[in-house]
Formats: sequence, structure tokens, C-alpha cells
Amino acid sequence: MTAPDAGNAVGVYGGTFNPIHLGHLRAAEEVAECLGLERVIFVPSARPPHKSDGEEIAPAQQRFEWVKLAVASNPRFEVDPIEVEREGPSYSVTTLVELRRRLAPAVPVFIIGHDAFCEIGTWREPKALFALAHFAVMTRPPERDGRLAAWLPEYMRDEIEFDEDGLSGRHRVSDHWIRAVKIRGLDVSASGIRQRIREGRSTRYWLPEPVRREVEKSGCYRDRAEARP
Ligand code: ATP
Repeated sequence: MTAPDAGNAVGVYGGTFNPIHLGHLRAAEEVAECLGLERVIFVPSARPPHKSDGEEIAPAQQRFEWVKLAVASNPRFEVDPIEVEREGPSYSVTTLVELRRRLAPAVPVFIIGHDAFCEIGTWREPKALFALAHFAVMTRPPERDGRLAAWLPEYMRDEIEFDEDGLSGRHRVSDHWIRAVKIRGLDVSASGIRQRIREGRSTRYWLPEPVRREVEKSGCYRDRAEARP
């Protein structure tokens, strides 16, 4: 299935980006290429509601600046401070309502990794999300088999009319599409990178070089007590 009206759609890629790494960038590039998206807006989450308290999260403004550095050289990438500037927990539903209004008549394509998509039932107003945006679900490496329906909690499956292959479908109410986008990607995670920093090991070639230098300068992740939301 090709993504209908992709030319009139804008990628919205939310994440903690703690810190942003080459896996995020490569994934966004592949999804944009596959769906023909001319714009992908990265949206760093200020206070991610689903990340546990025990996790060390660098200050939101700092993560935002790192994303800004990371996307600077790609003409179709940009970063939006919408969640950094908003008070309270960073609910995607609130962000999508606002971005949808701002981007109209273009419709947001919410770009999300398979692992995060599997958790979507725990987000605020999960059913409303499908009414606000198209969904591109990236198969994050290491690759997993499966169908979109199997990744959704049971009570949400009826929202979507799935195609026979189980890899795409349409939201029954809004007609927004949802599709799995198979990417080659890079098997790298922010938690793995934080771990390496804690252990004093190299993160070179996992992070964009300007980001690596800034992360190092910031002292984040070296000492848990230093990194505060
Ligand atoms: P952590 O390891 O701390 O959980 P993360 O690397 O998963 O962090 P997030 O900022 O939580 O990074 O991820 C934002 C989004 O990017 C999520 O939808 C996640 O699935 C996706 N993602 C993260 N890393 C990759 C990757 N290497 N390839 C594809 N998608 C990724």
C-alpha cells in the first residue's frame, strides 16, 4: 500500500531524545523517504509521562538544543519546542491537537517506533490519537515479525480496519491511514548510550559528532545526581 496523500502530510516524530542519536535520525530519514514526506518535525518531550522516575533525563532545553544541532544539516528535518514550552506532562494528544491546527490543511503523520507503539494503550486518550494523525510505525531493529493489530491492545483494534496483510489499515472514523514502515535502521538506543557515557566508554559514531561534543561538555549522564528533568 502506498501512503495516500503523503505529499500533503508532515512527519511528526516525538521522543525523549535523551540524547538524540543516529538511530533516531536514520529512522526518520528512511520513513520520510519511504512515504515521500518533505518535512519531518522532531518534537522532544519535556516531561515524558511514560518514562519512569528512576531514569536520568537531561534537562528539556538541553535535549532540545541537541536535537536542533542534529537536524541542522538535513533540509527536510526541523525541531519544534512545543512540548518544551508547555507546562505539565508532555501528552502527545495535546501536541497533536495543536500541530494539526498549525499544519492544516496538511495532516500530521505520527512517526513512532514499534516498541513505543506497543505501549500506546497506556498513553493519554490513545483512541483520539488515530483521529488526529496518520501513523507510521517503524519496525525498530532488531527486526520483529508481526502485524499492526497484534501490537495494539485488544480494546483498540476495532478502531482500525486492517488490510489483509496486517501491515496497514484505516481509522474507521477519520479515514486516517496507519502503516508499518520497514526500515533497515541502526540498532542503537539512548539507554545504551547513557550507559556507555556512565562507564566512560566511547559514543563516537553513535551520536552526530556536534551532539557528542555538546553532550560531553554538559557532563550529563556521567553522574546520575547531575541529570535532572
Ligand atoms: P531509551 O533507550 O532511553 O528508551 P530510545 O533510544 O528508545 O530511548 P526515545 O527518545 O525514547 O529513544 O525514542 C523515540 C522514538 O524513536 C520511539 O518511537 C522509539 O521507538 C524510536 N527509536 C528509538 N531508537 C530507534 C532506532 N534505533 N531505530 C528506530 N527507531 C528508534
